[in-house]
This record gives sequence, structure tokens and C-alpha cells, in this order.
Amino acid sequence: DLEGPFPLRMAASTDTETFLASPQLRAREGDLFNIDAALTEEERAVRDSVRAFVDEKVLPIIGQCYVDGRFPRELIPALGEQGYLGANLPEAYGCAGLNNVMYGLINQELERGDSGIRSFASVQSSLVMYPIYAFGSEAQKQHWLPLLAKGQRIGCFGLTEPDYGSNPAGMITRARQQADGTWILNGAKMWITNGSMAHVAVVWAKTDDADTEEGTSIRGFLVPTDAKGFKAKDQKGKLSLRASDTSELVFDNVHLPADAILPNSGGLKSPLMCLTQARYGISWGVLGAAIACYEEALSYGKNRVMFGKPIAGFQIQQQRLADMVTEIVKGQLLSLHLGRMKDAGTYTPQQVSMAKRNNVNIATDIAREARRLLGAVGILAEYGAMRHMANLESVYTYEGTHDVHSLIIGQAVTGLGAFK
Ligand code: FAD
Repeated sequence: DLEGPFPLRMAASTDTETFLASPQLRAREGDLFNIDAALTEEERAVRDSVRAFVDEKVLPIIGQCYVDGRFPRELIPALGEQGYLGANLPEAYGCAGLNNVMYGLINQELERGDSGIRSFASVQSSLVMYPIYAFGSEAQKQHWLPLLAKGQRIGCFGLTEPDYGSNPAGMITRARQQADGTWILNGAKMWITNGSMAHVAVVWAKTDDADTEEGTSIRGFLVPTDAKGFKAKDQKGKLSLRASDTSELVFDNVHLPADAILPNSGGLKSPLMCLTQARYGISWGVLGAAIACYEEALSYGKNRVMFGKPIAGFQIQQQRLADMVTEIVKGQLLSLHLGRMKDAGTYTPQQVSMAKRNNVNIATDIAREARRLLGAVGILAEYGAMRHMANLESVYTYEGTHDVHSLIIGQAVTGLGAFK
């Protein structure tokens, strides 16, 4: 149905002749550079399966979820069954064992549905499963990863505190080890995605550490959310990421067993390594939101007649669409190259900062321009542009604000730190 709100998607094809024969079809997909041809058959198949899942399960309900301020928990079992959670972690732990490009494409398609759905999957995959995989004991990995991969357990990641957002090194949450080896946790975390529905929280806390100059270190802990003294409070009043669970966590003398610690975590670099994973996925994810907005604007523009012709036939609207599709293509090339480098083990956190910063920024601009092209209907939840536009404001701020990534890139090019 070429006239529908979400135009027909072209089946995956590496065939250049087919591509050249159908430039208009490609233009609708935003794939003017035939990026499809740079993906393997398996990568396209994974992308197309998530696409179909989002078309069928997410798009019909997400507008209402957003209005109601509700995360669609009913999708979690299917997300697990499809292998979308922790998809780039090894099969030995019940995960799909996909490469990082496929992991990125999963994020792209989920966020074409909504940033809240992608945020759920990003947190579960990159901020809960990854730290257990990277810093956990073998027993922790064997126990948690298969359950989290299937969506049978939900996790959250607590780093940000009310007074320490961009500067997590200043955190005051504290874990004190007792004579018998067990731990007592006190403190609070703020803005925690999945916080109220999680079974387990990966909490970053300061511990005593005689080996460091400051006498403290930062370590990760697996905190069961039914532990005595653990409370999660919903963050009310959000005008962005409304279809996402965001909470404050409070730890009041939470008693944890000795083996609650992630034994191989140590220092701020451990949570920062998790953020690098998540930021990589976000660089892809936001392109999905941008594609959704572009496709909606293009379809609407071709159907909405004003002054006797479709508005997409006016030069100003074509400039908008040309800017959108160009930025999507550039963003995809950036993330694809980054994904290939990640698979080769050669990417750097600074490159991830550049991709996250650029792609969130362009996606935010695209969502705003799409909303404007739609005119009055662009403010309705029935259309996606304004929902994506509002969501992307959160994505602009979380996982390192746009400004923080400017400072990371600035330091990389000048050699001068400008953080304080
Ligand atoms: P601040 O750090 O107070 O920054 C305020 C402003 O000052 C920003 O514009 C910032 O760019 C700027 N600024 C700060 N430092 C500098 C500097 N050195 N130079 C120039 N400008 C500066 N956190 C988690 O731990 N887990 C989660 O699951 C999670 N989910 C989130 C979900 C949502 C919906 C949101 C909105 C946030 C989430 N966060 C989460 C928190 C997020 O990571 C923080 O909001 C973010 O790190 C920014 O911190 P802040 O809000 O305290 O802003």
C-alpha cells in the first residue's frame, strides 16, 4: 500500500540492478546509498524480522501507551523469545550470539517503534547483561544471563544520583563490607530506566579501597529489588519517554550477601565501559526514530494536497525531505562503520561519542522538521513525529549529554580536558 501512513518496505536485496530500477522505492526507504548492499544476508534478515515485529506488535499500540504513560510490558516475553535481548552476547549464556551490526540494526528497528522500547532493550542488554558478562563471576553469568535474555527477569542500571548526573565520580551511594564479608548498601539513584519493574538492579557504589589514593573505589553490585530497604518510586510528570518506566531507587541499609558484588568491576571505568556499549546501540537506535519520522513526513507530504498539489511538490518541503534523508544516510554510514570496527575490536569510546552525539542530534532535528511538515496533525499521538521528537530530548540528555560528548571529542582533538 504505497499510499498508507507507513509506505511499503522494499525486500532486502543486494542486486544493484534492482536497486537502480527502483530509485523511488529506495528513496522512500531512505536508502539512497544502497546501504543494504553493505549488509550481509543474515544482517538484513535480522533487521527485517525486527521490522516485522515492530510493525505488527509495537506500532498499533504505542501511541496510546505514550498518551497513557505506560510501558507495554506485555511485549517483554516476545522480545526475549525473538532473541532481541543481549543479542550480541554469546550463545553459551542463552543469548543470540549476533555480531554488533545486527545488534545495532535491532536497536534501529525497535526505536522506529519508540525510544522507550529501545531504551528497555538497551538497558537490559548493554547495562545489565553486559556488566554481568564482563565483570560477573561464572556463577552470576550462568544464573542471570539466560533469564535476562529470555525476558524472564528484568534488570535496571543505577549510576546517576540526584546530585551527580554528568559527574558520576562524585556519587555518594556507599557499600560497606561487614566482618562476615556481606555488604550494607545506602544511598539513592535517580532517573533509572526499568527501575520499578526490575527484578535486579546493577547498582554502582563507592567501597573502601586501601589501594587507591582516595581510599575508595567504585564497584558494581547485583541488588535484588525485593531486598529489605530497597524502594523504587516512579518518576511522575514526564513529557518525554512516556512509554518507558523511569524511577528513583532508594537503598536504606540494604543487606547484601558477599557474592552480590560483580567481582571484576573496579573504578569508574567499569560503568563507563557499559555506557560505551549502550551509546553504540543508541547511535543506531535514534536512526530508527529518524526513519519513522522521515517516512511519515514523506507519505503525508505526497498525500496532503494544498494549493491544488501535494505539499511534497513544493520546493521548501523537498528541501526538508532532502535534508532528512541525507542525514539519515550519513548517520547510517557512521554507525555501520563503527559497528564493523566494534566487531573487529578496534573502535574507541571517542568514536562512539561522535556517533551518539551526531545521530541523536540529527534525529532530533528530523523529528522536529517532520512534525512541522505535517502541520496540525503533527501534534497528534496518532502520528509518530511529535512522540519521537519529545522522546529524543531524553536521549539527547541520557548516556552522556550532547555537551559531555562534545567535551569528549574536544579532548580527543585538542588533548586538553575541559570537563572542569
Ligand atoms: P546535569 O549533569 O546536571 O547537566 C545539566 C546541564 O549541564 C546539561 O546541559 C549538561 O550538558 C551540562 N553540563 C554538565 N556538566 C558540564 C560540563 N562539564 N561542561 C558543560 N556543560 C555541562 N541514569 C542511569 O544511571 N540509569 C538509567 O537507566 C537512566 N535512565 C534515564 C532515563 C531518562 C528518561 C533520563 C532523562 C535520564 C536517565 N538517566 C539514567 C540519567 C542520565 O544519564 C542523566 O540525566 C545524565 O547523565 C545528565 O545528568 P543530569 O540530568 O543530572 O544533568
